[in-house]
Amino acid sequence: MQRLVLATRNTHKITELRAILTEAGVTVELIGADAVPGAPDVRETGVTFAENALLKAHALARASGLPAVADDSGLCVDVLGGAPGIFSARWAGRHGDDLANLDLLLAQLADVPAGHRGAYFVCAAALALPDGTERVTEGRLPGTLRFAPTGANGFGYDPILEVEGDTRTCAELSPDEKNAISHRGRAFRALAPEIGAVLA
Ligand code: IMP
Repeated sequence: MQRLVLATRNTHKITELRAILTEAGVTVELIGADAVPGAPDVRETGVTFAENALLKAHALARASGLPAVADDSGLCVDVLGGAPGIFSARWAGRHGDDLANLDLLLAQLADVPAGHRGAYFVCAAALALPDGTERVTEGRLPGTLRFAPTGANGFGYDPILEVEGDTRTCAELSPDEKNAISHRGRAFRALAPEIGAVLA
């Protein structure tokens, strides 16, 4: 069976993409970056989500000699012109300090009234082949930003994004509910037929 490697060491992300590929009728053996000796740690030097996802996918395809998939995601706030955007994970200065990132964003938006607090999560999903072939798709999860965090599930900015068409934040959704509508799920579901076509 054709093997495909996903640029993550997170087993939840591997399980999620495996289910999406099965649902789309794409038969591949999906493995994680852990299974690739010498898998590179790629610096995200791109200036768009798509560029960063492609950088990671191409680096892993080169290192593994296999088709590779990578994603890059973040939160885009309308009134901030799309920021934090690609800087979502390091908005408060230190990479991955979710609480500091969320607190800083809430402080910056403290005076922005309801009705002007639109935002969306976005994810770019990229497929790269060792021969340089590439495909990119995008998924979005739109909503509005709360004035204070609510909910205990999820991570990152989940507690402050109220989902469009719902009264709950992403952190109040169950993991299954979030996966069904998430930007990552949408980007991967759009990429699945591309993977099927390219690997056919
Ligand atoms: P990554 O590129 O997927 O690691 O995500 C970058 C950053 O975007 C994370 O550190 C979070 O701050 C934010 N982010 C991306 N996706 C989500 C999400 O589904 N919920 C909350 N925050 C997210």
